[in-house]
Amino acid sequence: MKKLFWYLLLIFVVLVMLTLILVVDKKVDNKDEVTQDQTKEKLSLLNNIDKKIDYFHYNYLDRYLDYQKKYSYLSDIDIVTRVNLGLDQPFYQNTKPSNELNKITILVNKYTYLPEDYVPNNLIKISDHFSSSTRELVYEAKESFEKMATQAKKEGYTIRVVSAYRSYYYQKGLYDNYASRDGIDIADTYSARPGYSEHQTGLVIDIDNGKLDFNHFEETEEFTWMENNAHLYGFILRYPKDKEEITGYDYEAWHYRYVGKEIAKSIKESNLTFDEYYVRYLEN
Ligand SMILES: [Zn+2]
Repeated sequence: MKKLFWYLLLIFVVLVMLTLILVVDKKVDNKDEVTQDQTKEKLSLLNNIDKKIDYFHYNYLDRYLDYQKKYSYLSDIDIVTRVNLGLDQPFYQNTKPSNELNKITILVNKYTYLPEDYVPNNLIKISDHFSSSTRELVYEAKESFEKMATQAKKEGYTIRVVSAYRSYYYQKGLYDNYASRDGIDIADTYSARPGYSEHQTGLVIDIDNGKLDFNHFEETEEFTWMENNAHLYGFILRYPKDKEEITGYDYEAWHYRYVGKEIAKSIKESNLTFDEYYVRYLEN
């Protein structure tokens, strides 16, 4: 009698276990079906985005698709480029520190910032002939700028630096002033927050012609000269007209960034902003 009881108990336990296994298994099956369906759906949407783009990141898939829904008129290449830049998020969100300190190809924008204590190596004073007061640039940029300004002078044009390297704290003073005068939203359209200014790289110049204020530079002959020649010395117009939604800044005819001759030439030919060029050809 006692034996029978133990047998029955054993059978009962085995049955309970089998039932549990079946139930759990079924659940796992269902889960698989769901993820498979989702993946299929995404892949079919994805057919509209060219996966052969070198800088396509599978882990950004959902972001590409969301962006595509919002901006269906953009090409696949533009969608991938812009999402990689972080443009599917508001400016100054999802920011990250630059990992390219002291490189000529460093990207600094509203998503990539420099440390508070970052001072580039090889900062050197620009010749007084070409600067309104004591200003510094990284050696390579300074050499190239002086060659450019010397050539312009020979041809009868004056190119003068009115701002170059700016420290984090100097930028903080500027931005805080603008923000208290105009409010943050307006200040953000023309001034970088501290750490996000390209001027902190030591690779940037703001210029005038020694006669008109720098923000009238577009009206000068020197501007036309720069349009035709800046790339030959490795400089690019960093915040072009009609690219505000990519660069995050109003058009600045006076702000030039040193990137080296080869890249400057490619950027001029491609009509891309440095941000886009960076994502497509420079980012690892
Ligand atoms: Zn500037």
